[in-house]
Amino acid sequence: MTLGRGRFAPSITGQAHPGTLLAALLCWLDARSSGREFVVRLEDLDHTRLRSGQREEMLAALRWLGLDWEACVLQSDLGHQHEAALDTLQAQGLLYPCQCSRKQRRASGRRSPDGGFAYGNTCRGRALSTDWRECGQPLRVRLPDTRVELVDASGADLSQSPADEMGDPVVRRADGVVAYHLVVVVDDAASQISHVVRGRDLASSTATQFHLQSLLGLNHPQYRHHFLLLETREQKLAKLHGSLPFSELQSHFTGPEFCGKLAKVAQLQKSDAPCTPAHLMASFDWHRVQTEDVLFPQ
Ligand SMILES: [Zn+2]
Repeated sequence: MTLGRGRFAPSITGQAHPGTLLAALLCWLDARSSGREFVVRLEDLDHTRLRSGQREEMLAALRWLGLDWEACVLQSDLGHQHEAALDTLQAQGLLYPCQCSRKQRRASGRRSPDGGFAYGNTCRGRALSTDWRECGQPLRVRLPDTRVELVDASGADLSQSPADEMGDPVVRRADGVVAYHLVVVVDDAASQISHVVRGRDLASSTATQFHLQSLLGLNHPQYRHHFLLLETREQKLAKLHGSLPFSELQSHFTGPEFCGKLAKVAQLQKSDAPCTPAHLMASFDWHRVQTEDVLFPQ
């Protein structure tokens, strides 16, 4: 009997950095402390930004931190399933082409919960007259107009009417790359993921993904969103990004030393003494985990 399955799904368009490693550690601890299997899924669909060696680099960084996994999935190997999902959506008459630019959305002036601008579903009336494979324009999917009532495992209320508050999402880009909202729900279902743990920057997209799961007849995993590491960028606080890449971390710290630093930031231990994920697992409890975002390095 399985108690379910968790996953960590980093994009490999950039190197692992402290934010990546914190998210991986929390995903791993959530799964392992609950007796669940753990899957690493490498997100490599955005081939426009890939270079060779990135898969191995990401896995090396996770191993360095002390993590292990039952399975490693390459997102690009799931291409047939992404296509099948687009077929299903087209068969329901839900796909439509839309070339509205970011600038047009901005002009509408309506903010969306993710901090961007809502798309006003202005092209819903445009029919997709060809097979989606032959369409050279971005494709959106018409979401149900209903509200999603959703509270995640951390107690965060993610209830939303995504079709209105966010707008219908793009599911296939003009360059043919299948877009994030669609692949993430297809990939989670393909690996039978029961528990999704991820940064709170993705919380506002959960309702959109919930509707996509329903349209595709997929199960809804349980979600939990965690705090983020922030950095100061252009005098503003922003989600920690490419600064302190793994290649640099590795030259300053051992894996256990860095695990200790993350554990302190996450309030999993009082000091930043070197430790391993396996050591942290014994006393892991989400109630003790830091909830506010943290400026890093402190
Ligand atoms: Zn449009």
